[in-house]
Amino acid sequence: MSTVRKFKDFGWENVPVLAYKEGGPYKGVTRQILFEGQDTLPAQWRYFEVEPGGHSTLERHEHIHYVLILRGRGRCLVGEDISQIGEHDLIEVPTLTWHQFRADVDAPLGFLCLVSAIRDKPQLPDAEDLAALRRSPAVGEFIRP
Ligand code: MN
Repeated sequence: MSTVRKFKDFGWENVPVLAYKEGGPYKGVTRQILFEGQDTLPAQWRYFEVEPGGHSTLERHEHIHYVLILRGRGRCLVGEDISQIGEHDLIEVPTLTWHQFRADVDAPLGFLCLVSAIRDKPQLPDAEDLAALRRSPAVGEFIRP
C-alpha cells in the first residue's frame, strides 16, 4: 500500500467506511480504520463519524482513548463531565470511565481515536450503572436514548 493515502470528503484512499458495531445502542456512526498498528506501535488509529443528532455507544473499558475532533461539533460525556466539543479539541478517556459522544443536531461529529491494539471489550451499563449515572440530572439528560 502507498505510504500516502489522500484525504477527500472525510475519507481516505483505500480506507473503507465500516459500520460502527461495537454493540449496544448507538445512532448514525461510521468507522474507518486508518492504521492497524504493528509490533513497534501496537495501536489502532480510527476515524469515527457521528451523523447530526447521532451518538456513540455509552460504554467503559480498561483501555483508554486519545481523541481529536476533526470535523463538526457536539458534546461528550466522560465520567460525570459533559463538555461542548469542536474541531481540534482533544479528549482523553481514562480507564473504566463511562463515555459517550453526541453530534449536535445540525452538524456531524467526526473524530480520530487512538487505542491500544491489545484491549478489553467495551462494557455496557446495566440497570444499576444507569441508575448511578442518572443520579446526576445532567448526565441523565445526556445519556437518554
Ligand atoms: Mn470506548
